[in-house]
Amino acid sequence: MAIYNPKSLKAEEFINDGEIRATLEYADQNKNNIELIDQILDKARPKKTETGYVCAGLTHREASVLLACDIPEKVEEIYKIAEEIKLTFYGNRIVMFAPLYVSNYCVNGCVYCPYHLKNKRIPRRKLTQEEVKAEVIALQDMGHKRLAIEAGEDPKNNPIEYILECIDTIYSIKHKNGAIRRVNVNIAATTVENYRKLKEAGIGTYILFQETYHKESYLQLHPTGPKHDYDYHTEAMDRAMEGGIDDVGLGVLFGLELYRYEFAGLIMHAEHLEAVHGVGPHTISVPRIKRADDIDPTAFDNSISDEVFAKITACIRLAVPYTGMIISTRETEEVRTKLLRLGISQVSGGSRTTVGGYTEEERPHDTEQFDVSDQRTLDEVVRWLMENGHIPSFCTACYREGRTGDRFMSLCKTGQIINCCHPNALMTLTEYLVDYGSEQTRKIGFELIDKELEKIPNQKVKEIAKQNIADIKNSNRRDFRF
Ligand code: SAM
Repeated sequence: MAIYNPKSLKAEEFINDGEIRATLEYADQNKNNIELIDQILDKARPKKTETGYVCAGLTHREASVLLACDIPEKVEEIYKIAEEIKLTFYGNRIVMFAPLYVSNYCVNGCVYCPYHLKNKRIPRRKLTQEEVKAEVIALQDMGHKRLAIEAGEDPKNNPIEYILECIDTIYSIKHKNGAIRRVNVNIAATTVENYRKLKEAGIGTYILFQETYHKESYLQLHPTGPKHDYDYHTEAMDRAMEGGIDDVGLGVLFGLELYRYEFAGLIMHAEHLEAVHGVGPHTISVPRIKRADDIDPTAFDNSISDEVFAKITACIRLAVPYTGMIISTRETEEVRTKLLRLGISQVSGGSRTTVGGYTEEERPHDTEQFDVSDQRTLDEVVRWLMENGHIPSFCTACYREGRTGDRFMSLCKTGQIINCCHPNALMTLTEYLVDYGSEQTRKIGFELIDKELEKIPNQKVKEIAKQNIADIKNSNRRDFRF
């Protein structure tokens, strides 16, 4: 039997089934242990030091106790601390992005995904470079600066060379004042050599959802195709890091397996990356299974309620305070509003999950990967965020200034976000409003920006930011950044 070892490079040792089961047992035994719960909550709170705030984070065992706890006052406290961590380390900024589906050809058999090989109803489509260009221009015209490439796994139709070509095309398009400044990539697990090529192509974060950490379920849910190999999939982030990618994004497809098992596995995965590579995941996504062509989410009996989903999000926030958290348009406006208070730092807006969806007038469904619940335009999402006290940020400066991996983490840990990310968010929001915002959104935005500028503690930074914002409003000059 495999023994738990977070430093091991073997999936069965760092995501160790025995350790997860022992963790769940420990959590059950302690879910009403007020003394222990208070200790864990206290450990999770941000603490002030001479150089700023620090947060200890939680181990997978500690975080699992909180997730198991149903005492209403304690759950409220978890939510309060999650919000406190979010505001302390990330401020009220919310980073904006959109997915770009380039191909739905897939050789895998994932039973929850409509792109599975046996689905003969769904039309298969792969964008040509001309089509990629048209999609990117449509996304730029909405105001997006950050994309996540999405593709099925198919070595013949979507080889790594195709993905690299798409990345090249995306970065090369300069349209009006627009440019995509960060391309994240969500493609199947691959080799160190291919990760190196992605790194050289200048990708931002490499995102790969584990789907489920439960090996037995994983094998059943992925019955055929290369994705069937649990170990290869689970060890992908180590290969990505070996290939030089320092920002990786984890995620679980909630609803496939028992959520407490998934949660413990997810936190163990983050601990493993920190233990081996000295830097944890850049982001964690929290997708939930959705209806899609040929897929009925009720066929998965582990679907989770909105309340449990909120608690999972908050507990992740407490466990890994320096990791960004992403929520997509799989969720409704109502759920997104709630989760934004509990630690989410990145949202998608105006998304289409179809191949070629951004250039089609009508919202197309035929190649859609899943039902999009939040169907608002990017402008509506931006306005809604501001009305709820958040600052939508189109900033991509960290990545372009080389502040990735542990360099970003140190910015976060020393509390410098308010002097760096905050002004960058305000400047890129101004760019968005001037170039793409509707009149109503602009009005709300400019008032908010004036107020938010006053929060910048460093006077010099504040003056420069004010000047840059005035320049953006008065001229065509763009891309100021700290
Ligand atoms: N093909 C790539 C892979 O194998 O990792 C990833 C790209 S796929 C377009 C992105 C993610 O969508 C998957 O990792 C999965 O978690 C999610 N997904 C698939 N089917 C879904 C569904 N019915 N509802 C919600 N999310 C789904």
